[in-house]
Amino acid sequence: MATTYSDKYGKQHVESAAVVLDCRDHGESDIIVTFFCRHQGRLTGIAKGAKRSKKRFVNKLEIFSSLIIQHSLPQNNRLAFVAEAELVDGFLGLRKNVACYTTATAICEFILLATKEMEGDEELYPLLIWSFHSLNSGLSPLSVLIFFLIRFFAAIGYSPQLESCLGCGQEVLTNETYSFHSSSGGIRCSRCNEKSTMERVRLSLGTLKSLTTALNQPLERLHRLQLSENSQEEALAFLHSYACQLFQREITSWAFLTS
Ligand SMILES: [Zn+2]
Repeated sequence: MATTYSDKYGKQHVESAAVVLDCRDHGESDIIVTFFCRHQGRLTGIAKGAKRSKKRFVNKLEIFSSLIIQHSLPQNNRLAFVAEAELVDGFLGLRKNVACYTTATAICEFILLATKEMEGDEELYPLLIWSFHSLNSGLSPLSVLIFFLIRFFAAIGYSPQLESCLGCGQEVLTNETYSFHSSSGGIRCSRCNEKSTMERVRLSLGTLKSLTTALNQPLERLHRLQLSENSQEEALAFLHSYACQLFQREITSWAFLTS
């Protein structure tokens, strides 16, 4: 649970581990920040006087930063009040590399799309931290995005069905070919593939195997998994198509991704 305490005026504050997903200037001196917190989930707060108070917030309230923040709990859809922030990790390596930066931006977009204010999610926070750490320490940005997305869909309750055919229920066979159908969220074997124009993405056996492993591997071992160039391409095509189908819109930051 998050630590709570009262300040000298008796106002309740909470201390939270949080990652900055978005921040924007507000008026002359304030900054409005959207965080993803370990316990509270998404939280939008205002840091009063943050643009002037260099000491309290400088280099901290920046997109992607991992922080410990002291804040009030928002009531009646109002903004939380952010009193202080302590930098845990600024992920400097991630910021210096364009491909890492654009991948992290896409990851933030996905978290914003799938979460609501003050709805905690015990799986998403460690996944977000894992993604930024991996980008920061030099893991291939596209692999990080693929592993993030496959686990992200599982965390929000839409894990893609990759182990057996949605049509006949047969487990994946080595002498069969498979396609992913975004509208039904799973794969179909060649025999069950309707002769329709429904959008589908071909997934080779190697890709299916890697993605299934990525779904089941503990987070701390995910970085050891290797993806071939072909598997990266197939995985990105299917994950993009699935995301657009799930959220019923284009993913804005996808167009800026580079390898
Ligand atoms: Zn089938």
